[in-house]
Amino acid sequence: MVSGKVEVSDTGGKGVSPTYSLRYFRESVPKYEIPAEGMPAQAAYQLVHDEMNLDGNAAFDLGSFTTTWMEPEAERLIMENLGKNFIDRFEYPQTAEIHQRIVNMLARLFNAPPGAAFCGTATAGSSEAIQLGLLAHKWTWKKKRAGRGPGQPNIVFGADAHVCWDKFARYFEVEPRIIPMEKDRFIIDAASVRTRIDENTIAVGAVMGTTFTGACEPVSEINDLLVRVREEKGWDIPIHVDAASAGFVLPFTDPGREWDFRLAQVRSINVSGHKFGLVYPGLGWLIFKDRSDLPGDLVFYVNYLGDTMPTYTLNFSRGSDMILAQYYNLLRLGRAGYRTVMDNCLANAGYLAGRLDGSGKFEVLGAPDLPIVTFRFKEDTRFTPFELAQKLRERGWMLPAYNLPDNAGDITVMRVVVRETFSRDMAENLFSDIMTVYNILDRTERERLEPTISPRRGHHTT
Ligand SMILES: *Cc1c(COP(=O)(O)O)cnc(C)c1O
Repeated sequence: MVSGKVEVSDTGGKGVSPTYSLRYFRESVPKYEIPAEGMPAQAAYQLVHDEMNLDGNAAFDLGSFTTTWMEPEAERLIMENLGKNFIDRFEYPQTAEIHQRIVNMLARLFNAPPGAAFCGTATAGSSEAIQLGLLAHKWTWKKKRAGRGPGQPNIVFGADAHVCWDKFARYFEVEPRIIPMEKDRFIIDAASVRTRIDENTIAVGAVMGTTFTGACEPVSEINDLLVRVREEKGWDIPIHVDAASAGFVLPFTDPGREWDFRLAQVRSINVSGHKFGLVYPGLGWLIFKDRSDLPGDLVFYVNYLGDTMPTYTLNFSRGSDMILAQYYNLLRLGRAGYRTVMDNCLANAGYLAGRLDGSGKFEVLGAPDLPIVTFRFKEDTRFTPFELAQKLRERGWMLPAYNLPDNAGDITVMRVVVRETFSRDMAENLFSDIMTVYNILDRTERERLEPTISPRRGHHTT
């Protein structure tokens, strides 16, 4: 560049060509083999960016529990720390410190007894947290059994539990004793737990906020049962509470409710940071009530400032970004802020549930504790919720339809997870669109099957 004159290559210098004039936009994009040569950054960016438009819009993903929006300041923190590997505690001691602070905050949020030696870890999500929590209980069972010959461990949970519970049973070779649902019962109860436990039960699972209906299981009753069993038979069976959703809701909206470490047999709890913890995907938490609930053989040590630091995870390397984003939310919102956000979600969920119920077309399945609205058709229709879901897609809404687990498998429901960003305005629009689409499907089906009442009959007379 000389005397202020900008030189532009007449051969279309790569730095100055308009993006879409590049040849990469009239050629097929490499799909299944790494290309021999690369391409300019602007082209690679635009190609991937444009393909992402084919995905749904995350804001309209009503079925998803995971966070789709964070504040710009949180995003800035995430960007600033993208390159940090969380496991490198020697290099990033302050990230390790913040991780420990969050474990402390959550253990106290879940009412760990004063002075308790709780411990915990960040995980990829609740799935990893559940595998690790249950693995610890399996190990404890194994140690207790030592010297009494081999036994087949079992675990008791409901058919309404998340698939990661079945995964644990298969991967870690524990017999799953699954409590079926009934036509009018979509969670487990203490009576159905009682008939399935024995001395080889490594743990009972209780879900606070099932993915099927959002309902909470009666942890306190199950705890009473297991306390009695411990006294009468000497079986000390721990409860692992899957609080993937409720763990960041109930402590703020209903702190008096006892489902957590206040209950004697509750020894471990998982929660998803990336659900109502309000952090983007990639973060869960596992908290043990006491160090003795995590057998020492399962803990590995990494180097930390010349000292060693215990770790209990399935992965080694992982990002620090979401852990820091979680800390941001905890500082930024405080208990009062989380409570306000959750109260808004509950109010909007209540509004939507009320409108659906009042329409006469839908029956809302009760789950007032969490901002999750599950509903089914009230009347026999010739179209299914799956068709309603498909038609709503035309307006952009992604509203899942699915069947409940056995023995309620013939019930098809639809679910809206009311997240922070689902405003009253969105709820009104959604309800209006649901009714419009329902009525269109209803009318089309009736016209098809009963042509005599078709208003268009006149046009076809000869
Ligand atoms: C979401 C969820 C899981 C799985 O959690 P991830 O964080 O997605 O791994 C497990 N249990 C319940 C009740 C859930 O809602």
